[in-house]
Amino acid sequence: MTDVPPSFDVIVVGARCAGSPLAMLLARRGHRVLVVDRASFPSDTVSTHFLHQSGLARLNAWGLLDRLRKTGVPPLRQMLFVNGDLSVSGFADPIDGITEVYCPRRTVLDSLLVDAAREAGAEVIERFGVDDVLFDDDGRAVGIRGTTSDGVEREFRGRFVVGADGVNSVVAARVGAEAYRTVPATGFVYYSYFSGLDWDYQNRTRDERQFASCWTHDDLMMVVVMRKRDAYREFRADVDAGFQGVIDHVAPDLGADLRARGRREEPFRAIHYADNYYRRSHGPGWALVGDAGYHKDPLTGYGITDAFVHAELLADALHLGLSGAEPIDEAVAGYARRRDRDSAGVFNLTVAMSELTLSPFLGAVLTAVSQSPGYRQKFFTMVGGGYPSEEFFAPHNLAALYDEVGTPAAGRILPAGAGAP
Ligand SMILES: Cc1cc2nc3c(=O)[nH]c(=O)nc-3n(C[C@H](O)[C@H](O)[C@H](O)COP(=O)(O)OP(=O)(O)OC[C@H]3O[C@@H](n4cnc5c(N)ncnc54)[C@H](O)[C@@H]3O)c2cc1C
Repeated sequence: MTDVPPSFDVIVVGARCAGSPLAMLLARRGHRVLVVDRASFPSDTVSTHFLHQSGLARLNAWGLLDRLRKTGVPPLRQMLFVNGDLSVSGFADPIDGITEVYCPRRTVLDSLLVDAAREAGAEVIERFGVDDVLFDDDGRAVGIRGTTSDGVEREFRGRFVVGADGVNSVVAARVGAEAYRTVPATGFVYYSYFSGLDWDYQNRTRDERQFASCWTHDDLMMVVVMRKRDAYREFRADVDAGFQGVIDHVAPDLGADLRARGRREEPFRAIHYADNYYRRSHGPGWALVGDAGYHKDPLTGYGITDAFVHAELLADALHLGLSGAEPIDEAVAGYARRRDRDSAGVFNLTVAMSELTLSPFLGAVLTAVSQSPGYRQKFFTMVGGGYPSEEFFAPHNLAALYDEVGTPAAGRILPAGAGAP
């Protein structure tokens, strides 16, 4: 060991959507925070990057939304969902004053977050890979051990260790955080960035094939294609043809447009993403946040938004503990309970949608929604995070929807149980 380990209040492993906001919020409250990442920023990652209004509201509350707007990312104020012959378009009510959504490149967004953590007073160390969590004799996490890009091993000690290190979390593995509510992933994703297209923000699905498009930085349109895993081998044999084939199949006019005018400006990014899961996210001296502790299919675009929301919840809990208002492990256990409760609706909806086929229940609801301007508005507000999905899908709410649009008795399908769909 080459140096005396410094001491921090909180050590955060991972500096993207969960880690940097957590570090920033704690540092702003005067806590001594270290955040480390094996990446060096600006850094891309294999993830599309749609941000819901409820996530943007967190950025706004932290004073970072105007900074994001100034990066030139275009605002989006209209959404289109198409599934088979069913089409629903509209946009949410303002959510905490946010009237638009964005799809910022991760190179831009993640750097902005890392900079904000540093400005708040957190110590940020890039190109540092964590190999281990350190424990005291009672099994309490007390620090980390890792390696710099030059191969130098270093240890850091802190009162609390947080894993914000994504789906393959080393912290989760070392503390033995078991997974629960695991649901196997169903799909794979290919995406890239195109010039020459002027499509709307849209998400279209037909016959277990899906694509979505969204404007992002540099006048480019992000286009993402999703299919079920059984199609992977065939798709991978000719990615250009597979990508084009999905759009041709789902929306032939846009397929023709892509062929005629679209120019792919960057290589395809591809991923067989991880299963849907929760992991136990609190224990003696440690916590997990972001994808390290809770992950779901990317198709509803909620990972970044949830990482923001849950980083703030965890920062509040850690502050209670560090300031002596509550025993720290109890405060953090409360964070994990609240995260699980508040995220269940999005988790269930995401898992249901990831089948790329509407269940009879979702088909009935969306058919009715497409016929009611008021419920369309409610639906998009739910999608944006401004209205709980549990309330949207509650039997009394759906019964009123079916009444309004005159759904015949046979089509009035209600949720199977609590926590549905
Ligand atoms: C194909 C795809 C598309 C997606 N699209 C969207 C979308 O449109 N909108 C949305 O909101 N979400 C989307 N997501 C989900 C989103 O990417 C994640 O939910 C989000 O990145 C989680 O943030 P995080 O900070 O928890 O983890 P990550 O972004 O994974 O960051 C973890 C960080 O930890 C670092 N790290 C890991 N291990 C170590 C270690 N041992 N030592 C040091 N550092 C370490 C990594 O370098 C990384 O920087 C998508 C995901 C995928 C796979």
